[in-house]
Amino acid sequence: MVDLPPTNDGLAHTHAMTSSVRVRVAPSPTGDPHVGTAYQALFNLAFARKHGGRFILRIEDTDRARSTSDSERAILSSLRWLGLSWDEGPDVGGPHAPYRQSERLPIYREHVERLLAEGNAYRCFCTKDRLDQMRADNRDKKVFPGYDGKCRALSSDESDRRAASEEAHVVRMKVPTEGTCVIPDVLRDDIVKDWESIDDQVVLKSDGFPTYHLANVVDDHLMEITHVIRGEEWINSVPKHLKLYEYFGWDPPVFCHLPLLRNNDANKSKLSKRKNPTSIEYYRRAGFLPEAIVNFMGMMGWTRAQGEEKFTLDAFIQNFELEKLSLGGPVFDVEKLRWLNARYIREDLDAVALVDRLREWALGPDYLERIAPLAQPRMETLSDWGYLTAFFFADAVPVEAEDLLQGGQDPKQLAELFQIALWSFERLERFDAASLEGVFREIADKRDIKLRDLTRPFYVALTGAKASTPLFDSAELLGRDLVRTRLRRAIELVGGLSAKKTKALDKEFRATFGA
Ligand code: GLU
Repeated sequence: MVDLPPTNDGLAHTHAMTSSVRVRVAPSPTGDPHVGTAYQALFNLAFARKHGGRFILRIEDTDRARSTSDSERAILSSLRWLGLSWDEGPDVGGPHAPYRQSERLPIYREHVERLLAEGNAYRCFCTKDRLDQMRADNRDKKVFPGYDGKCRALSSDESDRRAASEEAHVVRMKVPTEGTCVIPDVLRDDIVKDWESIDDQVVLKSDGFPTYHLANVVDDHLMEITHVIRGEEWINSVPKHLKLYEYFGWDPPVFCHLPLLRNNDANKSKLSKRKNPTSIEYYRRAGFLPEAIVNFMGMMGWTRAQGEEKFTLDAFIQNFELEKLSLGGPVFDVEKLRWLNARYIREDLDAVALVDRLREWALGPDYLERIAPLAQPRMETLSDWGYLTAFFFADAVPVEAEDLLQGGQDPKQLAELFQIALWSFERLERFDAASLEGVFREIADKRDIKLRDLTRPFYVALTGAKASTPLFDSAELLGRDLVRTRLRRAIELVGGLSAKKTKALDKEFRATFGA
């Protein structure tokens, strides 16, 4: 048993009093490693360390269409780079392995069978067409848009017979149709919801994979998670989760929903990559130090008593109190991060340490040896290296609107081309020279522009130069994140794209380039 301070962290109303604290971060590997994942990982890690507990990393890859192993690798590597390491996880193992949900399917199946057998769930054979129609009708009638419960009324004989004849179906959990549910949360007063407003959630999809809700609850229980510390966007899922805990006869964990990170804009919108880079990889490539990022994340919703803003991970852990987190939307202000990063560079590193960090960052043999073959054919002296490759070691590159518009480009059209390329890049599974070339050829073809004319402004946007190393290979080495931010800046430089224009373009893009 851990020795826990009596007043803090909502521990009083939890079974954690008698067992050791166990917390987790449970990212879905469906994209770039997000700064929000690091933020949650940091708060979970701090809570675990503070209480001598365990911090677990679980990969929630039940969305088969969107999960990729590249994304999983990138998430693990970014969190490790930040120094947020876990005690149990898919790569380090642990007593509750496997920690990757796609490897736990029989466990979920067994639990779904149990829900079915005990009458707490039912098979639903409704087709997509029927569900679409039902939603549209509900919308027209302005009633709750959830499932209407048609298959809830099927007799078990009929349900068994149709399942035996392999009719496609999902499994839904039964949610009460009346009464209220209370959501307890360490940081908030109880939130009360009407069951009526909550859908009979699908727990098993027709492909035999569980949904997030079922897998998450089953795993949190089996992995003995005591505190669920995660993003606010999951609060509305708690009633369904509590119902599942009740159906299984398990004690639920303590819930703590962290405020969402916000953009630094007038209406503090939810942090989005339209406004800020959100990939940890971007910050790594742009030359931010991991300790500065962790420090910055620690400032989100938490202020140190003495007001000093620069602190180590250890100090953060020592002073950490979950209950004292502020709910005011923490602003992810990149300028502030830059200011903090500068302090780390100037105050903590001597020349030798700085050179070490530069080597780790981009001046090590791995990266240099990949750039060398691109620069070599263009070099007469070694000193040509400097101007030829400067853009590989930069965040933004020096570009003006007129550099991009040379050749009489129409600024609006150019902004559109940059945007179309950005969307096409998002769809690429591999960000390599061959795939990038494919994207440019497709855009040239669909927009009826010569490839050379199309690529020239991209070249300038990405390299800041008129002549340098070849575009597709260079973009591959720069990687998704730097390419994305440089093209975004280029769009702004040529006048930007209004929300309305973006919407229309998106429609055109989907129609012309396939959904
Ligand atoms: N897989 C969910 C996510 O991607 C986890 C949410 C949770 O922590 O319960 O955020």
